[in-house]
Amino acid sequence: MTEASMVIVGGGKAGARAAIAFRENAWKGPVTLISDEALAPYDRPPLSKAAIMEDAEPQPTYLLDDGMMASLEVNFLRGSAATAIDRSAKTVVLADGKKIPYDRLLIATGAEPRRLSQAGAERALLLRDLADSIKIRSEFIGGKSVAIIGGGFIGLELAASAAKRGCRVTIIEAQPRILMRGVPPEIAARIAARHAEAGVAILTSAVITEIGPDRVLLSDGRQIPADILIAGIGAAPRVKLAESAGLALDNGIACNTYLQTSDPHIFAVGDCCSFPHPIFGNERLRLEAWRNASDQASVAVENMLGGHRPYDAVPWFWTDQYELNLQIAGLPQRGISTVERVPREGAMILCHLDGTGRLVGASGIGPGNSIARDIRLLEMLIGKRAVPDPAALADPSFQLKSLLKP
Ligand code: NAP
Repeated sequence: MTEASMVIVGGGKAGARAAIAFRENAWKGPVTLISDEALAPYDRPPLSKAAIMEDAEPQPTYLLDDGMMASLEVNFLRGSAATAIDRSAKTVVLADGKKIPYDRLLIATGAEPRRLSQAGAERALLLRDLADSIKIRSEFIGGKSVAIIGGGFIGLELAASAAKRGCRVTIIEAQPRILMRGVPPEIAARIAARHAEAGVAILTSAVITEIGPDRVLLSDGRQIPADILIAGIGAAPRVKLAESAGLALDNGIACNTYLQTSDPHIFAVGDCCSFPHPIFGNERLRLEAWRNASDQASVAVENMLGGHRPYDAVPWFWTDQYELNLQIAGLPQRGISTVERVPREGAMILCHLDGTGRLVGASGIGPGNSIARDIRLLEMLIGKRAVPDPAALADPSFQLKSLLKP
């Protein structure tokens, strides 16, 4: 395949990792990275946190800057929207009409923020890219009221950042509690309590009836001040390109365990794709998570180059709010019983076991890096489909590492 061409659509975490991975896998042929953003790929986790809180103007944290692009001989097409895939000609068509031939194509188009549909919602700020983060930062002026719709990761991280900048913050969440999807109630309650301590009001089971120029009206008559309005109400996989090319979809671009789409020459990774997970009975998952994007890109590249490696990394994500670090490994919602482990005062880890006693998830919260080591070990145990002794899990002096020995 030395004369063949590898093409990546999407210049986020997954696209950048893939471009690097081709060279790590000793691929000598052409690699083209197509991105609709003007900037080279940069990291997004800081956009809701450090980029807003720190005094210095936010700068992109490049994952693959122009120098690296040159040394890796990646043909980077910046500001180029891919508008179609011609599968019979094996080309990607760009907005300016150019056609980029591929032998293998990787779709890494990510997800995009959902938008509110109510009248007045057009003033709601969204967060996806660096420009959005800079705009939000410029609006977070001390004393201003900020209403954030959605008590998910974006909403909560931005609430902590707005509070740090001295804003008066209200989170408006439709569900009966924050972080309803994927985060156990005990952990969500700890985060909610910390927000309350910082002066952030969290309204749950809240239904918005009207969005005005400086307030949001709820169905129970409450009026929430909103000099600034933010929507963090979830993300939808960007599948337009795949859909118009006739690729199979199933909660995102449907991939097999090798991250190959219904067209064997096309692969997909990151927030835009779903795949069967071997550790969880081949349940089809779509993960909107930073590490997943990166790990999937590495595996997909190997398979694009002729490998046959299933993707079986344990799902993992984190969020930092105030001094607290929250991490989730595996699928806690798959558990039917929970064992609590307290690695140190002020920290809590929940180990989630299924009906057979198998460890299927671990979720933790604590200051700084207090939970990191145990969650990492629990993540490895989840990957090994371990059935640990609950008493050992509950004993903080018990070395989890010993369970990993064959
Ligand atoms: P999210 O985590 O899915 O949370 C959105 C929340 O808003 C959900 O609780 C949702 O409830 C609620 N909601 C939806 N419509 C609403 C409405 N009309 N009124 C009030 N609440 C409403 O999504 P997100 O926070 O917007 O994040 C977007 C993406 O960025 C996700 O992919 C997320 O994983 C990613 N992200 C991740 C991190 C991290 O991993 N640390 C940080 C920032 C962003 P329903 O469940 O009923 O829809």
